[in-house]
Amino acid sequence: MALAHILGYPRIGANRELKKAVEAYWKGEIDQTTLEESGKTLRAAHWQASRDAGLDLVTVGDFAFYDQVLNVSALLGAVPPRFGAIEGDVDLDTTFRMARGRAPTGEPAAACEMTKYFDTNYHYLVPELHAGQRFRVASTRLFDEVAEAQAEGHPVKVALLGPISWLWLAKEKSEGFDRLTLLDTLLPVYGEILERLAAQGVEWVQLDEPALVQDLPRDWRQAFEAAYNKLQSARVKLLVATYFGALGDNLGLAAGLPVAGLHIDTVRAPEQLDAVLDRLPTYKVLSIGAIDGRNIWRADLAALRERLQVARARLGERLWVSASCSLLHVPVDLEAETDLDAELKSWLAFARQKLDEIVTLAHLLDGRATDADTARLEAATQALEARRNSPRIHKPAVGERLSAVSATDAERPSPYGARAKVQHRHLDLPLFPTTTIGSFPQTQDIRAARRAFKSGELGRDAYEARMRQEIVHAVERQEVLDIDVPVHGEPERNDMVEYFGELLDGFAFTRFGWVQSYGSRCVKPPVIFGDVSRPGPMTVRWSEYAQSLTDKPMKGMLTGPVTILQWSFVRDDQPRDATCRQIALSLRDEVADLEAAGIKIIQIDEPALREGLPLRQGEWQRYLDWAVESFKLSAAVARDETQIHTHMCYSEFNDIIAAIAALDADVITIETSRSDMELLDAFQDFAYPNEIGPGVYDIHSPNIPEVEWMVQLMEKAAEKIPAERLWVNPDCGLKTRGWAEVEPALANMVEAAKELRRRH
Ligand code: GLN
Ligand code: ZN
Repeated sequence: MALAHILGYPRIGANRELKKAVEAYWKGEIDQTTLEESGKTLRAAHWQASRDAGLDLVTVGDFAFYDQVLNVSALLGAVPPRFGAIEGDVDLDTTFRMARGRAPTGEPAAACEMTKYFDTNYHYLVPELHAGQRFRVASTRLFDEVAEAQAEGHPVKVALLGPISWLWLAKEKSEGFDRLTLLDTLLPVYGEILERLAAQGVEWVQLDEPALVQDLPRDWRQAFEAAYNKLQSARVKLLVATYFGALGDNLGLAAGLPVAGLHIDTVRAPEQLDAVLDRLPTYKVLSIGAIDGRNIWRADLAALRERLQVARARLGERLWVSASCSLLHVPVDLEAETDLDAELKSWLAFARQKLDEIVTLAHLLDGRATDADTARLEAATQALEARRNSPRIHKPAVGERLSAVSATDAERPSPYGARAKVQHRHLDLPLFPTTTIGSFPQTQDIRAARRAFKSGELGRDAYEARMRQEIVHAVERQEVLDIDVPVHGEPERNDMVEYFGELLDGFAFTRFGWVQSYGSRCVKPPVIFGDVSRPGPMTVRWSEYAQSLTDKPMKGMLTGPVTILQWSFVRDDQPRDATCRQIALSLRDEVADLEAAGIKIIQIDEPALREGLPLRQGEWQRYLDWAVESFKLSAAVARDETQIHTHMCYSEFNDIIAAIAALDADVITIETSRSDMELLDAFQDFAYPNEIGPGVYDIHSPNIPEVEWMVQLMEKAAEKIPAERLWVNPDCGLKTRGWAEVEPALANMVEAAKELRRRH
């Protein structure tokens, strides 16, 4: 019989119980025992959900109060020295200090770095390793959780990040040191963990090795062999889990590792199934990740049954059925969505529903479908049929417009040099013009007004009047500060993607569709279910109103197509680039309307351009091509005299600088202040031709930046980029700050610009 299992379940709880408990603990509202209890309750519920659905194993080890990678670091005793010498076990507060710098007990210290887990929006805590690093089993948490699940009578499979991927995700903290050299010290500790699990009676341990879907240097590939040769002596069966893509050139390596099983992702990489079947030794289990763990669409069970027949025939009892990756990346339970219409709902499946899909698929493959399975199969087939033909999804006009797009639509009328001349005449800005990135503080007041509006307590007119008041305030402040290019401040936007999604056709919103982003922070991505189009202007009246309050050129603010795509659940019935181009065309209309309404400068934010990069470098160019084209489709409708800005905030530009230049934005504002302007080197080396606003102060910090310090930073910038092409602005939007910090910070920033003008 095909065995049904999952790599992991969302841990936040259907009502974000985890978030609430953890935050209450941080605030001192509940004690550690209560927090631990809530964790235990959640785990019990998740295991029970797996069993109720009919999975053959429950997965232990997917729970974490903050992050599962951090849990592994704690388990291995890999606590950076600045958190103090740890005798005995790494306690919960130490992990919280590592995650956020402070905890109810223990000395505060600088938090560990956090970064995205592969190409997901989930952020993990980066393990820090130094030369001479020692490891030891330094936490009993995993073993306790195993005992907990066993006490409930569940058949347990343990999930743990594998040794190579853990090292792969880590960062070296000593000069001239290669973290891979730690493998020999690390493996005995993994061995000891496996031994302990064996002693607890655990039969299967899933070791996640998603690094296998990336381009691996040779020594890392060899490390896989060496590591698993050593670990094979463990008295547990190992399932090496790969996900988020194809094994590609690591396929032979992965298939050949001396372990009892391999998990592959056949959602992202369906084409690899045959090759894996051919290469898999006959003693090995193959876990097929056929249900999408990264997206919220209902699975086509009939098609999957068809497609996996061969695998079933070839593998027999050695076939396991699962989701492509941990269900951590999808919301918990669709049943909670009482506001979604029944039709749309019938097209979706969240984690809870995906458990059922996995079980039914396993039963179908075995030819042992129950009545419930048959009903589920039929319901899925019907829903998918309806989805394929729904006029809510397919809007002929959108497709027609897209196919009529020509290469020239993505090009501005004139090249940058010619545009710049017209713009400078038209805008008449001083040297080192000052601006901000768009948002001003989202005060409690603004949020309260929006809540009241959404709940119906506050009428639309009153709400809009309230937002206009806020715009007046922001524009007045900027006038007093003497900022050259003011913004309206984005008070009307709850979120830079959601705001646009709500005004575009083809988007839907869930009420409880939360997904963990990092720690206690959850996001609720919009669902792009159909062809995207713009029923009407989205930002024009706000920008127009803001412009009416000042003689300076008001900058219009849009979120770019790639960022909207990247931060949503995207439809799976057409390529991502097609959806991106549809969004781009909607934004193009908005750019045209803003321009027609007298807006002379329009910023199209693309902070998510970089995170869309595929995991394999060989696929980068194709992605960058359509991403850049989408941005340009949005922007290029603008006349030469209209200045197009873009904004990005991440710390690495080197490898995508050509694509950034290809966007051909007249001005790009970027986060740079924390790098001491070193990030501009990439722009200098590339001879980046257009204007740049390198952020002069870090908006994440409440400190007020000093004039002289910002002048010095800009002087450094001017050594790399000609002064005529430099702008002065903060690193990012100011929505998370208070006015009390923003005003003096911007006053200093403007003062710095004026000083620079005197000097140049
Ligand atoms: N315009 C947005 C803001 O100022 C940009 C946010 C971002 O870069 N993430 O908030
Ligand atoms: Zn930013």
